Amino acid sequence: MVVMGDSAIFVAAALVLGAILGSFLNALSFRFGTGVSIARGRSRCMRCSHTLVALDLVPILSYLFLRGRCRYCGTHISIQYPLVEAVAALLSLGVYLLNPNPLLYAFWLLVWLTILFIVIYDLRHFIIPWSCSLLLIGLSLLYIFILWQQGASLMGDWTIFAAGPLLALPLFLLSLVSRGQWMGWADSGFELSLGWLLGLSLGGTALMLAVWLGAAVGLLLIAYAHLPKRWSNRGRTMTMQSEIPFAPFLALGAALAYFAHVDIFSNLPIFF
Ligand SMILES: [Zn+2]
Repeated sequence: MVVMGDSAIFVAAALVLGAILGSFLNALSFRFGTGVSIARGRSRCMRCSHTLVALDLVPILSYLFLRGRCRYCGTHISIQYPLVEAVAALLSLGVYLLNPNPLLYAFWLLVWLTILFIVIYDLRHFIIPWSCSLLLIGLSLLYIFILWQQGASLMGDWTIFAAGPLLALPLFLLSLVSRGQWMGWADSGFELSLGWLLGLSLGGTALMLAVWLGAAVGLLLIAYAHLPKRWSNRGRTMTMQSEIPFAPFLALGAALAYFAHVDIFSNLPIFF
């Protein structure tokens, strides 16, 4: 895609805004659920508690210039900081390129940052906060309302509303039979909103890609854990029962469907 003139300014603004919001998500991910308010005081180094100045807090760049270490005590800074900031910047850019309309940009940016937060939180704590699931479900219902306002016939195209429950059903059943052991309850809530936001075909693509990617990574981890001791220095063994968060795979599948237009169901006659 060629970007010139005015739009170059918007592209830069989208990247900067995304990086700043990513930095906010980082702070939120460390404080959420710990009882420490996000608004509480200035940012501090987790190790030496030195108050960080503006120069230490520039998204991505501070990490690069400080070579991943605290300026005051030299302790390693988690790679999560620049990684989340970079991903948020790219999400913001991708959302802007697909939705130059300011309101739609704001809407989809909120959707993708919520999804990014769910992924960070699930990777850190193996759980999706209910508040995030409910926020995403609320946003997806708002999206259906927007579609209806724009003239979509909810009666004429039954898939607009059915996509969410239909796609969430397999995950919901997995949670039901295993009482939440094989699949967390919040994962079906996540897929419910993806179905509404992406529609039946793209939402189904997100789910299929998530299952394939999850299975591939799961098998790799099991194979890695079964390597002879001298090849593997990890003490932890991985079995089929080991918990692998599913939300990151759902998010990756959804990103491929939404941003890269991967659609494995588009040619099936049932969707015409
Ligand atoms: Zn420090």
